[in-house]
Amino acid sequence: MSTGQRDVEVDVVIVGYGPVGQYLAYKLGRLGWTSACIERFPEAYAFPRAVHFDDEVARLFQSIGLDPSDNPAVQPYDNLYRWVNADKEVLLELDWTGIGPSGWQTSNFFHQPDLEREIRKIVDTETRAEVHRGWEAVELHQDDQGATVLARSTRGDGATRTFRGRYVVGADGANSFVRTSLGITMTDLGFEFDWLILDVLPHEPMHFDPPAWQWCRPERPTTVVPGGAPHRRRWEYMRMPDESIEELNTEATAWERLAEFGLTPDNATLERHVVYTFRARWCDQWRRGRALLAGDAVHLMPPFAGQGMCAGLRDAEALLWRLDAVLAGRSPDALLDSYGPERTEHVRYFIELSMGLGRVICVSAPEAATLRDLEMRAAHQDPSLAPAEPAPPHLGPGILGSHPLAGHLSHQGRVIVAGREGRFDDVCGQGWTVLARPGALAHLSDAIRTWCSEVGVRLFEVGAPGSGAQVIDVEGRYDAWLDELGTPVAVVRPDFYLYDAVPAERLDEALRGLRTALETGSVARVTVG
Ligand SMILES: Cc1cc2nc3c(=O)[nH]c(=O)nc-3n(C[C@H](O)[C@H](O)[C@H](O)COP(=O)(O)OP(=O)(O)OC[C@H]3O[C@@H](n4cnc5c(N)ncnc54)[C@H](O)[C@@H]3O)c2cc1C
Repeated sequence: MSTGQRDVEVDVVIVGYGPVGQYLAYKLGRLGWTSACIERFPEAYAFPRAVHFDDEVARLFQSIGLDPSDNPAVQPYDNLYRWVNADKEVLLELDWTGIGPSGWQTSNFFHQPDLEREIRKIVDTETRAEVHRGWEAVELHQDDQGATVLARSTRGDGATRTFRGRYVVGADGANSFVRTSLGITMTDLGFEFDWLILDVLPHEPMHFDPPAWQWCRPERPTTVVPGGAPHRRRWEYMRMPDESIEELNTEATAWERLAEFGLTPDNATLERHVVYTFRARWCDQWRRGRALLAGDAVHLMPPFAGQGMCAGLRDAEALLWRLDAVLAGRSPDALLDSYGPERTEHVRYFIELSMGLGRVICVSAPEAATLRDLEMRAAHQDPSLAPAEPAPPHLGPGILGSHPLAGHLSHQGRVIVAGREGRFDDVCGQGWTVLARPGALAHLSDAIRTWCSEVGVRLFEVGAPGSGAQVIDVEGRYDAWLDELGTPVAVVRPDFYLYDAVPAERLDEALRGLRTALETGSVARVTVG
């Protein structure tokens, strides 16, 4: 870690060293790029906000060498997420069981300070990532070649220093300085509720069935969820119209609320109480010139689906391969223009999902709650009355081929390659990936094969044991996924989203389309298949 007062010049300046800044810094370093993270807090933030991540984010953690199934901060979780009314009748159940498409447990609960400590240990191994704590970004200037951030010491000594990068990423949270200084506006869905958050370490493990549930009682809407290892729990209480934030946010109120769950200072430690305002917003632009936004700086959502940090880490992945290509000169700066449109559509899905879930619980009027209970109980008992399941999330327009599922998440299964068995990314690595049924690569031209090896597009034939494929599909996951796509070939982006899926004889054309997209920064529409 650098502690001197020199001005700093790197490839990418990252403002904010929360989970998104940490992840970005480490992976930029792995790609060979230098970064400087500017963080205003001299010490790591000691309290959790997020408690949950999904299988896709588990795969992202896998990519930095952090195994979510074997980490002291994480409790993999296999259960339903239940929403009940005042009488504890089930209104809604979300199936968070089993292994998700990314090859990890669908749902995982964690203690954010512990998990961030694990991530920071990983960042510390990356010499290309500098971390500058105790500096607050206060000015941002841009020119054609890069951007400069002026930071002021938060240690009270009045010192300033500049950080120069070819790009700047604002990963500086909900009140982002970078977003404000760029003058970027936000679309606000008008959702706004205050909630008291109580993080508790019971002295003995507590058992709830299911472990995560929402008690949608109108007199006191309450969230009861795991809080991460070893057996932490979180309670959240909506502020009622007749309560002030000041009277809600006290230790006395916390214990008074926890008493109904049998918790007292004798059998539990209250790690913190805080009131957050839950909002639903996203930025109308995700980049301006040499400055880009990621994480809470660019979107905010109520936490009912446990997706805010997850979305921020997806932003980081979407930025990483683009920045890599642009910094290396393989792609023009215009490639970065597709970052916002792709991510906006995806994050909107989760913002709207979270807001929809919020609308179920954030009901304090008894009549409205009765009506909600009637409708939701009926829908729970007779699924034909339930609203249609939303289609899975997908990226908005961007660097995508023309298959109907382009922009959807890819799958990860267990494979064997040259006698080594493991999850695909552990065995084969991360990057542009062509997954083809045995024989399907035979159609590739020499010119495209050469381009693939020059720019690092990896070509794999994948098949069942005994098929002779280079990659053995141990669980049949790739077979099932290619069946679902209806093609023998899938082209997967480094951020694990499907670029395109094509018949074998159209693969050459699809990859020529990809080459054009990467060389021009935008997709020249090639109709494939
Ligand atoms: C109650 C609650 C529950 C949540 N639950 C979940 C959940 O279960 N799952 C989930 O995925 N998400 C959840 N979230 C959301 C999640 O916590 C955030 O999305 C995530 O922490 C955002 O990470 P970030 O790195 O973008 O920003 P932050 O974690 O906010 O980090 C930004 C950093 O930038 C620094 N900074 C700010 N301005 C400057 C400046 N000018 N100069 C230098 N440094 C600066 C800050 O000090 C901070 O360290 C929850 C949020 C809340 C409030």
